[in-house]
Amino acid sequence: MNDKPESLDPFKISQKQLAQALDIIGYDNSIYGTLSEPERFIEIKITSKMDDGSIKTFRGFRSQYNSARGPMKGGIRWHPDESASLVKALSAWMTWKTACVDIPLGGAKGGIICDPKKLSQNEIEKLARTYIRKLAENLGPSTDIPAPDVYTNPQIMAYMLDEYETIYRKHSPSMITGKPLPLGGSAGRSIATAKGGTFCIREAAKDMGIDLNGAKVVIQGYGNAGHHVARLLQNEFNSRIIAISDTGGAIHNSNGIDAMKAYEHKKQTGSVVELDHTEGISNKGLLRLDCDILIPAAIENVITRENSNDIKAKIVAELANGPTTPKADQILFDNNVFVIPDFLCNAGGVTVSYFEMVQGYYRYFWTEKEVFNALDKIMTRAYRSTVQTAQEYDTNNRMGAYIISIRRVVEAMELRGWI
Ligand code: GLU
Repeated sequence: MNDKPESLDPFKISQKQLAQALDIIGYDNSIYGTLSEPERFIEIKITSKMDDGSIKTFRGFRSQYNSARGPMKGGIRWHPDESASLVKALSAWMTWKTACVDIPLGGAKGGIICDPKKLSQNEIEKLARTYIRKLAENLGPSTDIPAPDVYTNPQIMAYMLDEYETIYRKHSPSMITGKPLPLGGSAGRSIATAKGGTFCIREAAKDMGIDLNGAKVVIQGYGNAGHHVARLLQNEFNSRIIAISDTGGAIHNSNGIDAMKAYEHKKQTGSVVELDHTEGISNKGLLRLDCDILIPAAIENVITRENSNDIKAKIVAELANGPTTPKADQILFDNNVFVIPDFLCNAGGVTVSYFEMVQGYYRYFWTEKEVFNALDKIMTRAYRSTVQTAQEYDTNNRMGAYIISIRRVVEAMELRGWI
């Protein structure tokens, strides 16, 4: 084995994946040149007076990756580990994500380096409003539409919407998605990422001959996506959640853990650890558990060269963005682990965001049932074409998804005369 440490730089990883896919398709270097960098990358400084009177300066970003297929779209992440490289990578993945599910949008992503857990509601509101003030002229329903991501939520979207509408002195509900329902949010948006993931998991289980009834599921990360997917798999498919982790640690019970009880416990104590009737295990040990489905549902670089050989799951359903490194991808493929790649598996969020924009345009709102029926069609179609393309090219599902997405983006760029 090569001893050089594997690069965990997210943007380099996204570029490596792109290069690998272009190689399979047979596109030349000039295409790599245009697709490997964002169209525009904006860095801003946000200075804010905190509740205790002190002055703090934060760094924020917006990466607008590609607009060939439509206005750019992607969430805003507030996290202490946020970085320019991560935002660029996430904006690239948004570009492939919207193309993979074939919705008429490009890709973008934003973020602020901060720890929202240490901010008061007043400080959060100020940060949200200043971010929009600094970026307003670069955003808009026909330009670039933000949404929630890690540690941002509908309330933050509401402050951002209000700031934008105050600046332009008109209503513009489709300038941002993931809004609270009374401000034009869409039914189903808050669980859309998890719901979309379950449609992919349902299809993958069929393909792999796995009965979801009683299937053993392991969840890595118990935030918005993680806890909803656990609940949906448990309630709709009768799957058994045998382990759950979060930043505080991991818990295990081979007879099953009640997804809602774990969620309530986390709400009360800050973590899933020490939930009744579970044993504590290490976060590393969780990934090694014998199970049918492993769901990384938090952040990037969880499955790496170091631990991928220990993965016993039959299906890895990537609800997080970028959880698997390229080296680990190869190992999982060689070991016949069926990976549902991130920008397919977690595309339910942005797809319902797109429905939210559409509803916002004509001010007419759909029921949750209508939203999820439409989502099912889009996710199932994208899943099928990904798996079929991967088989055609005798490659892994991630490359299958890349091939489809790159072709669509390149076609739009050619039609526009950009290349
Ligand atoms: N942040 C989500 C994602 O990574 C949703 C983006 C959106 O709705 O625009 O896909």
